[in-house]
Amino acid sequence: MDKKEILKEFSSDPDRFYKVKLFADEGFVRKSCLKCKRFFWTLDSGRELCPDDADDTYSFIGNPPTTKRFDYTQSWKEVESFFVKNGHTSVSRYPVVCRWRDDLYFTIASIVDFQRIMGSKVVFEFPANPLVVPQTCLRFKDLENVGVTGRHFSSFCMIGQHSIPNSQGYWKDQCVDLDFRLLTDQFGIKKEEVVFVEDVWAGGGSFGSSLEYFVKGLELGNAVFTEFQGELGKHTILDQKIIDMGAGLERFAWITMGTPTAYDCCFGPITNKLFQKIGISPNSELLRMYFTEIAKGLEKFEDLIDVRKHAIKKVGLTDEQVNRIITPLEGIYLIADHLRTLIFAISDGALPSNVGGGYNLRMILRRVIATMNRMNLKLDLDELIDAHIDYLKETYPELNSSREDVKTILKIEAGRYDESKSRMEKVASKLKGRGKPLTVNELITMYESDGITPDYLKELDVISEIPSTFYAKLSDLHQSEKKKGVEKLPLDNLPETDMLFYKDDPMEFEAKVLRVFDRSVVLDKTSFYARGGGQEPDYGTIAKYKVIDVNKHGGVVVHELEGGIPNEGEMVKCKVDSLRRENITKNHTSTHILNSSSRSVLGSWIWQHSAFKEADHARLDITHHSPLSESEINEIEKVANSVIKQNIPVSIDNFDRGTAEQKYGFKIYQGGVVPVKSVRIVSIKDFDVEACGGTHVKKTGDIEIIKITKTKRIQDGVVRIEFVSGQTAFDYIKQKEMDEIKSVEESAEKEQIQNQKEERKQKAREKIPVLLEKISAYHLDGTTTIDEIQIHMTKSSKFCFTSSDQYDEFFHINFGKKLVKNNPMITYVGIFEAGSTIRIIVYSGEEASKSKNAGNIAKSMAEILGGAGGGDEKFAQGGGKDTSKKVEAINKAKSMMLGLE
Ligand SMILES: [Zn+2]
Ligand SMILES: [Zn+2]
Repeated sequence: MDKKEILKEFSSDPDRFYKVKLFADEGFVRKSCLKCKRFFWTLDSGRELCPDDADDTYSFIGNPPTTKRFDYTQSWKEVESFFVKNGHTSVSRYPVVCRWRDDLYFTIASIVDFQRIMGSKVVFEFPANPLVVPQTCLRFKDLENVGVTGRHFSSFCMIGQHSIPNSQGYWKDQCVDLDFRLLTDQFGIKKEEVVFVEDVWAGGGSFGSSLEYFVKGLELGNAVFTEFQGELGKHTILDQKIIDMGAGLERFAWITMGTPTAYDCCFGPITNKLFQKIGISPNSELLRMYFTEIAKGLEKFEDLIDVRKHAIKKVGLTDEQVNRIITPLEGIYLIADHLRTLIFAISDGALPSNVGGGYNLRMILRRVIATMNRMNLKLDLDELIDAHIDYLKETYPELNSSREDVKTILKIEAGRYDESKSRMEKVASKLKGRGKPLTVNELITMYESDGITPDYLKELDVISEIPSTFYAKLSDLHQSEKKKGVEKLPLDNLPETDMLFYKDDPMEFEAKVLRVFDRSVVLDKTSFYARGGGQEPDYGTIAKYKVIDVNKHGGVVVHELEGGIPNEGEMVKCKVDSLRRENITKNHTSTHILNSSSRSVLGSWIWQHSAFKEADHARLDITHHSPLSESEINEIEKVANSVIKQNIPVSIDNFDRGTAEQKYGFKIYQGGVVPVKSVRIVSIKDFDVEACGGTHVKKTGDIEIIKITKTKRIQDGVVRIEFVSGQTAFDYIKQKEMDEIKSVEESAEKEQIQNQKEERKQKAREKIPVLLEKISAYHLDGTTTIDEIQIHMTKSSKFCFTSSDQYDEFFHINFGKKLVKNNPMITYVGIFEAGSTIRIIVYSGEEASKSKNAGNIAKSMAEILGGAGGGDEKFAQGGGKDTSKKVEAINKAKSMMLGLE
């Protein structure tokens, strides 16, 4: 939808869309900006320019328009007390990790807290009406601005003022009246300073008018009145109109303090701490001028690099001043901002990684480290984390409990960065010599493949500036990862299936066939659990056909059959394979137990990443930074089995989603988003509470036992735990014990064989010299046998031969070699069995080999034995498997050694 079109339409009827009661009561006049033509409302009838174009833009820096001074924490207290005093409920912030939406990693606006996606529709669920919330929002699209512009943050507090106009809530008149009084009464800003600018908002198929409110050129808030749906011209009024007023708490603090930047008044003691480290004072006239120019320049120039250059020129800063004051300041602001974001994200269960939303977190931590290195700052991150949390806990007490976890995670991540440095250095030094500058796409590829941030390249002077579009592009790239495709099946006009597995869950039932297509059948009711939440489907039979798959499409359960298919309209008998179901059920409850066991053993950052439950095996993937150690695995298993031993009841209750979220928090969304209004809460007392649509045992004792079979780090930040439970676990343990016994036996056997071999070797070593002695003493012309070695010594031929079992390879090799060395006229053949083969070793002495070639002898024998042999005239070996030809082979050898052939 074209916003400009809508704005033109709305502004053509200001009485209908913009003129609220306050404007009439106070005497606001409507003006059109001389420069940009936008319409705005003001009490100053002489004002001709909109806040963006007027000369007073950012004149609050150094000269705040309020008598009161409030920092970040105090500002929230003021805002909160004002709205509570005026009938609003103050709601605690929602997590910054947006687990209730499939399309967002992080909470990007306060209204997101209350949006739930049902099908393709966004519905709103308010825990109170009207309400106000200090919602921390994370945005990574314009990271290059952070620290530089004075007003951009990677995380900020959006004051969310929300109302549904009904008997409790209000609409435009009261909203604008409240916002005006917040500024004037509560913050003490003069009425004449407040300017409202006409605008519109459109998104997600709906749209409405909005009023942005400014003081001294600073946009403090934007009240959006979501009122219509559809295309402009053909639009209709929404059943549920919504007020979405979002204001920046950091800006509220800034306008009352008038510091050079919003950073100076929003990080509590942190910025001052850092200023001391580098020895600069932030409250100088020079900074006031510089950041006022930056603020003005942001409206004028597209590129931040130009904004900065322009401001430097305008204020007349020297290079020395820029290097000594501005650049270090920017670094300090960046460090403070990024650390604050990491604290919120890690506290809410996100981990830096190279996938999904974890991407941005790793990126900003690396920016922090690169900035510290570039500035040569030796900072203790733990100390800064403590200082941040000590300051933030006034508004966000929940951060206090995750202090140590945040430190742990950042330490691990910083360590990883250090480890990868030498590799990064290599890549960077190669780039240094290259003539042309790196493109944004090249920079993105480098970060994706090597984890090299542009900040690091800047630190090493490979690049001088980070391209302005880098962070936006990277963020877009990873946002689109979190989207899903939908399969289209012929299921039109079917009622939702009556899901018996959520009711009395009979394992045998009768049902009516409502639709048949391909090999699929839809019944009016079913007990077959449809694949979902990582739980595999039930099998069994429908009519006489095998059920091989079951899936849910919207509220309709589709069974896939094998062997045939019933007819539409038929009543069929159905039977669920109850043993399979029972095993899957045990595995499902086990994943819940293991998930919470892992969290209690490893840390608060453990979330279920995904899970899979089959009948005979299951796995749980958890978010964790490192592979699991043996002792961690044992500890998790121990905790899980103690929960089983306690035989805790597993209870299932249905809650209104909002109630469940308020009661248990967002930890219930371990298995991901629940797209229904009523959530099914599965709780194992306080130990584990999850929103889950799966089947579960009645008491933890029913599982009997959980056994972890394997763990593996499957991706950055995710560890897989494979496990079995119940009978499968007992079988597994038994099998493992048997395997162990077997392997002990096998190794004993191996050892025995090894020992025997050693013994024989030793024997051979002792025996060989004795034998050689005996043989050399035997000079008679004739034959004899010593120790089963036949000795043949005639004038025409001299040889020794043995096929005795007592001799092995070691003997033959060593004996034969020495024998022919002692007597070059001799030939030696040893034949022995090794496994299923008969092997031959032949030596022929220096002289003997001239007529009795060892290679030929070995080859001829091996051929007879059905094998092969080879070597040279002095030494050869061979073998074959035909044991029945052993005698024939021996005879052949003898005849060759006798010189008969
Ligand atoms: Zn203007
Ligand atoms: Zn579950």
